[in-house]
Parts: sequence; structure tokens; C-alpha cells
Amino acid sequence: MTLAQDLDEAQARALATIDEAAEALRTLSLDIHSHPELAYEEEHAHAALTAFLEERGFDVTRGAFGVPTAFRAVAGNGAPTLAVLCEYDALPGVGHACGHNLIAAAGVATGLALQAVLGEGNGTIVVLGTPAEERGGGKVDLIEAGAFEGIDAAMMLHPSGGRMITSGQVRVPANPNALQSLRVEYHGRNAHAAGAPWDGLNALDAIIQAFNNVAMLRQQMRPTARVHGVITEGGRAPNIIPDHTSAHFYVREENRLRLEELKPRVLACFEAAGIATGCRFESRWDGHPYSDMLNSSPFVDAYARHAVEVGLEPIELTQVGGGSTDMGNVSYAVPSIHPSFGLTSPDAGNHTPGFTAAAGSEQGHADMLRAAKALALTALDAYADEAVLTRAKREFAERRGEAT
Ligand SMILES: [Zn+2]
Ligand SMILES: [Zn+2]
Repeated sequence: MTLAQDLDEAQARALATIDEAAEALRTLSLDIHSHPELAYEEEHAHAALTAFLEERGFDVTRGAFGVPTAFRAVAGNGAPTLAVLCEYDALPGVGHACGHNLIAAAGVATGLALQAVLGEGNGTIVVLGTPAEERGGGKVDLIEAGAFEGIDAAMMLHPSGGRMITSGQVRVPANPNALQSLRVEYHGRNAHAAGAPWDGLNALDAIIQAFNNVAMLRQQMRPTARVHGVITEGGRAPNIIPDHTSAHFYVREENRLRLEELKPRVLACFEAAGIATGCRFESRWDGHPYSDMLNSSPFVDAYARHAVEVGLEPIELTQVGGGSTDMGNVSYAVPSIHPSFGLTSPDAGNHTPGFTAAAGSEQGHADMLRAAKALALTALDAYADEAVLTRAKREFAERRGEAT
């Protein structure tokens, strides 16, 4: 019996598998939630996730693709091969304030559901553990190491909160921005700030001038651009003209091409401030650039349909701009989707302590399970009907042609 011949039965079994695993998934999710780890340091989550999948019959590679906290867990066999991605890094000071514990549990839930129905020769599911989404871009390391070779399509889920989306809603397609991180430093000269300020070269003035230059540029930027930063070193004492300062900025635009257009304009703001203050300027584009997201329409359409079937409400994104994710880079490697599901967190958007609480709540877990069910059904469509992947690959090839 192939999946196509008995899709109804396979769908029912996939959904029942997620229900049966609900308690174990809750324990796994809370374990990760209570051990928040920063980018590339996710040792506890890596150990918990790989043990969980191995106990349930997945063929697990720990420290996959040369990244110590990445993993690859495989079930089923034959073509096609779909990947479902887990993230599990947290944020400094606020723990799992982006709910990546729920992303990990959703990836595992989807993997278990598909493992239960794929059987012999109906296809392969790869649960991919992808570290360092919040900083660095672990998925780019995996892409460069060949993790997506032989993968026909990739998918993942992400929780969202705040005023834009709530429990019971899913946002698909997602439209994260392209992003790159910029580190800057100014080197000036110390002097007594009252006795001989004219002998100094004020590296703090350089940073403040740069912020003002960026603020002026902002008036001329496209509405989809975001440039924002913090001063990471601003001097040591009011009576010493600072000789060294530094800042960390993020530059975002709606896609990779626009980001590349914006980057030199932002850099010019910093260079000009160095000239104006007589300070030597150094800069470094840091970490991997994050791409915008190419949402695969056949998968988006299927997800929106299945979301309704499991009791979720698909909504459109109305806000211009937003966050960024290294899943965007994956979407330039293989056809991909990245729906977000709402958590009940009325005034607490992602990256706030209220969202950390929502990501550990019973309701958050229930929200995740429903979103994972819709993702499992979406993947099943692609296993059962090869036309889904044919359409996805054709669209992907056309878009990649345009986008590069
Ligand atoms: Zn985040
Ligand atoms: Zn996140």
C-alpha cells in the first residue's frame, strides 16, 4: 500500500502519533526551556534531542557537519527526502524568549509523525538540528558543509507573539528580512577632558556622530530597511576623552539585493564620523549574512489548508519589515517554508520575558502541537503526490534565477 493509495489513513496515523507523543514532547520541550544555552553552546539541548530521537528509532549523527551542537536524525528510506529543522538556542538574559524549545519539539513531533507513516520506500525524513539562529547563523554552516544536498524541501515552524498574532493563528508565508551584523570601532586619543580637551581625539563623539548620520540616512531609506545598534564601549570616565569606542549594528532590508545596496550607505555614515572627529575607523561585517525568505508556494498553500483542518486560522502579515532568520538562507538552497504560530502572550512579543513564560506554558505547548500537525500533513502531501515537489522545484528554479 502506498501513501497515495491511502492518504486518509496515513494522515490519521500521523495526527495520532503526535497526540500519543504529546507528554514526552512536553517533557523534552521543558527540559530545553529550563536549560537555556546561547548560540553554538547548545550542548544540553543537543544531548536531549539526539537521545530522544535515537530511543525512537531514528538513525542519529551527533555533532553533524562539523558543528558540535548540530545533529542529523533520519527515518524512512527512498525518495523523496524532506527535512524538518529544529532550533534550540536561547538569548542572553531572557532565556528561551524566542521559544526555540518549541521549535525543537515541533521538529521532533513532525519527524515522529512522518516516521510512523513512511514505512518501506515511501520516502525519507531528516530531522536536522540547526544551532545558532539568534547569533551567527548555524544553518549557513550546515549549508556550506553540504547538509542540504539530497534534500528535496525543508520546513520548520516558529512561535510568535505580541499584538500581531495570538494563540490559534498561524502566519504563512513568513517574510523575514535579509540581515547582516556590523561591528565598528573608533581609535582616538586620550586627553584631560577639562584641562586640555583640544589635545584629544574623541572616539565617543565619533560614535555619537555616526548614530546621528544613521538617523539622517533613515529618512532616505526604504520603509523596509531597519538599521539599529548599541554602543558596546563608550569610554571610561567623564574626565578622560575616550580614545577607543565600539558599537554593534544590525542592517536589514527586505531582500539580499536591497541589503547589498544599503550596506555601503550605512558604512559611509561611520566613515564620515571618523573623518569629522579625526578618529581612525575600523569595521567588520560579522557572522553570516541572513537572507530573506523565499516561501515555496505549493508548501505554503498546503500548510494554509491543513492549518484550517487542525483548527488554526491562517492570517496575513500586515506589518512592513520584521525579524530575520537563517532559514532564509536555507530557502535559497532548497524549496522551504517557515510558518509562524501564535502563542498566547498578549503584550509579550518575541525576545521579552513574557514570551519566555509563554514558551514554557501548557497553552504554548498545545499551540505548538497543532502547528506541528499541520506541518506533518503538509509534508505528507509531498510524499504522497510527486507533483507537489515538481511544482515547488520549478518555482524555486525560476525564483533563484531572478534573485541572483
Ligand atoms: Zn529570536
Ligand atoms: Zn527565533
